[in-house]
Amino acid sequence: MFDNVAPGTGKKVRNVVDWRMKVLVLFGTRPEAIKLAPVIHELRKRFFQTIVVSSSQHKHIIKPFLETLKVDVDFDLSVMRRNQSPNEVCSRVMAKLDRILESEQPDLILVQGDTTTALAGALAGFNRRIPVGHVEAGLRSGNLMSPFPEEMNRRVISQMASFHFAATEKNRRNLLSENVQSEKVFVTGNPVVDSLKYMLKNLKPHPDIAALIKKTDGKKRILVTTHRRESFGTAMTGNLKVLADFVYKRPDVCLFFPVHPNPNVKGVAKEILGGHDRIHLLEPLDYSDFLAIMKAAWLIVSDSGGVQEEAPSLGKPLLVIRENTERPEAIRSGVSKLVGSSPGALKQLLEENYAVDTWIKSVKEVANPFGDGKASARIVKIIEEKLASKPLSVRSIQGKLF
Ligand code: UDP
Repeated sequence: MFDNVAPGTGKKVRNVVDWRMKVLVLFGTRPEAIKLAPVIHELRKRFFQTIVVSSSQHKHIIKPFLETLKVDVDFDLSVMRRNQSPNEVCSRVMAKLDRILESEQPDLILVQGDTTTALAGALAGFNRRIPVGHVEAGLRSGNLMSPFPEEMNRRVISQMASFHFAATEKNRRNLLSENVQSEKVFVTGNPVVDSLKYMLKNLKPHPDIAALIKKTDGKKRILVTTHRRESFGTAMTGNLKVLADFVYKRPDVCLFFPVHPNPNVKGVAKEILGGHDRIHLLEPLDYSDFLAIMKAAWLIVSDSGGVQEEAPSLGKPLLVIRENTERPEAIRSGVSKLVGSSPGALKQLLEENYAVDTWIKSVKEVANPFGDGKASARIVKIIEEKLASKPLSVRSIQGKLF
């Protein structure tokens, strides 16, 4: 029997349950926390002991998300350093996690997506012969250099995982075409939709954000996010200049840009977009604030993966400022358009859609191709069926669990 935290209360409970199995859940960035939070809650609901580990690859960004999503961290690896390379993150996560694996001996490690933290977690688990479950498995852009290093990270994780939780049928096919055994691949949907649905039920933006949305009532609001490594430099500078010029010339347009703290983004954002009263450069936003702005947006311009998955649920038109996407389902749904990496293409699309807003107006909430809000329940059910052979025994419940 183990101590654990009673879900939703944050209180330690003792001797409540013979937990079925220990599942170590590892994340380090904002999107991983958003996507793994509902899985953690579901695991606890189904009486799995969870060991939640944050690498804190993005320390300051991730903190408010854990509060919003009601996730308590058991171990914080605190690997973040200024301007560190993926190699440094990988080696630090592996070394620190290894000590936890040795002392905790989990039955399963869950990683999500394609970050360096996820890669390091999968490799650390593999080296200790602990099964690895990969959430959001099977995304492929087809280009190892874009997104970089994520495309390689996700491919390598697929070599090590024992359970591949694919969001879509296409993701499943990607894995099968790389000879991943079909009995290890499960189409579950992406738990980002679970989190999104949970948040949208009770959206409470910060009063400052609510005021900003109110102040810009009647304006065409553009929401921008960009911080991918392959966007740094000429592409990002060019795109931000195009956006600045587009807003300057049109008094009925305003722009919101929650700026990622990466120095490669912060500097150019301030230089190109700073000092204009219709351009709002913001700190990275808590999830509810970001979703409130997303809901109020006229158009979204982004290189984010998570935003591509969320846009269909909100029915928001999205211009993807990347050369390729591993999420063609959003394009097929009609919600997003792939711009490419040329600022000229972004300029043309902005101007065309401002002049004739047929596409923008036509984008409506569609059945989200990435999930239906039940992905975490499916993932945990599969873990239960495949791994949790130990029968559950609830001996004494002290205090309220749910
Ligand atoms: N997001 C947020 N606040 C922000 C920017 C993004 O809550 O200021 C959310 C967004 O809704 C999405 C996720 O963070 O769920 C995307 O994160 P990011 O773009 O960092 O990563 P990616 O999805 O590209 O891996």
